Amino acid sequence: MYMTPLDGYHRPDATWLLTSRPATKTKYLMYEPLPQGLALHDAVLLYAGDVRAGDLVIAEFGGKPAARVSVHLRTPYAADPHTVSDCPCAGCVRCKDFDGAEPHTLPGRDERWACLAPSDGEEPCWVYSVATPLAVIPAAAVRARTGRPAA
Ligand SMILES: [Zn+2]
Ligand SMILES: [Zn+2]
Repeated sequence: MYMTPLDGYHRPDATWLLTSRPATKTKYLMYEPLPQGLALHDAVLLYAGDVRAGDLVIAEFGGKPAARVSVHLRTPYAADPHTVSDCPCAGCVRCKDFDGAEPHTLPGRDERWACLAPSDGEEPCWVYSVATPLAVIPAAAVRARTGRPAA
């Protein structure tokens, strides 16, 4: 389905295509299914800087400004956003090896980067430019449809 950002910061011609979630493979579990009760049409497009705690991040969009087709995450994760300087990860590879490239920014914001989920010790942090579009199932929908916060 085609999506536009909720907050209106987008260029008028900008739309992003959220494709179907790849089928889960039974033997190697390539893509975890969405939590029971949640579906693709629950997703909205948010910039990383607008993602809130408990939102379930399900897909990125290729990581380039011109890439407008979804790249599904193998394991959707519940956001726990903080600024990169406040990250509790104690220096995961992504926070350490920050390439310093000038990120896109959002109007009226000081932050340039957001860490949406700190490292769990195995996977590094999920760090994005605040203007990175993401497909997200809002925390309220996660609660309403599953009866519990995203794990
Ligand atoms: Zn980190
Ligand atoms: Zn972090």
